Amino acid sequence: MALLELHNVSKTFTLPKGSLTVLKDISFNVEEGEFIALVGPSGCGKSTLLRVINGIIPLTSGQVLYRGKQVDGINLECALVFQSFALLPWLTVKANVEMGLEARGVPLAERERRAGIYIDKVGLDGFEEAYPRELSGGMKQRVGFARALAVEPRVLLMDEPFSALDALTAITLREELLDIWQAPDMSVHNIIIVTHIIEEAVELADRIIVLAANPGRVVADLKVDLPRPRDRRSEGFNAWTDKIFSLIEERG
Ligand code: ADP
Ligand code: MG
Repeated sequence: MALLELHNVSKTFTLPKGSLTVLKDISFNVEEGEFIALVGPSGCGKSTLLRVINGIIPLTSGQVLYRGKQVDGINLECALVFQSFALLPWLTVKANVEMGLEARGVPLAERERRAGIYIDKVGLDGFEEAYPRELSGGMKQRVGFARALAVEPRVLLMDEPFSALDALTAITLREELLDIWQAPDMSVHNIIIVTHIIEEAVELADRIIVLAANPGRVVADLKVDLPRPRDRRSEGFNAWTDKIFSLIEERG
């Protein structure tokens, strides 16, 4: 059984004047363990699709199944990481990491234990009492990672998590993300990352799903057969980025 199944998922927003169909008949499965990249131009509905998968926003028609069952409301097996980090500026690193646990009703002692573990795992040991304004962009996103990991999700949903970072920081954090996905002692088995950076998708994903806009729909779904670790300078890598670029040009 697939971990996640999307069957003809459509989403239409009602606007003051008329309506806007953002997602149209999106269907794909995610198999256990897969790292998926969703790529497509700005405005094609990538963020909306992640939110629908997570269950934060309801779909208009179609179905999202998790392990064969329709999820009612938010899927607690998923956690989100945002481009903007989405940290609360008046809370310390530790309190930001505990936020998701508090929302899930995890008792204080357990929240503190897990915050400690995951702050450590993302390399922010010693910064527990710091405030977001005292941190660099890369450190802020590490807090974003720790907050998501602390709920011990099976599926990590990431919305352009490296787009606000400088190139060198992004390189390091992408490597660390692969480590998190591959580490046997981490809860995360699957990652779905949204990105408009083709190289990022080819570097990270087992499968790339290409979306086109107006309305957002799947135009290609490709298994990336490059061996890991992937070398951005290799011929195979460039062949893949070219392939995705031309698909977007042809069908986007
Ligand atoms: P992407 O992440 O691919 O850039 P989004 O999912 O953010 O795309 O948005 C796709 C389209 O849906 C955009 O035209 C956006 O304005 C619209 N949209 C997103 N959220 C809402 C909302 N809550 N209400 C109305 N329109 C929305
Ligand atoms: Mg977006």
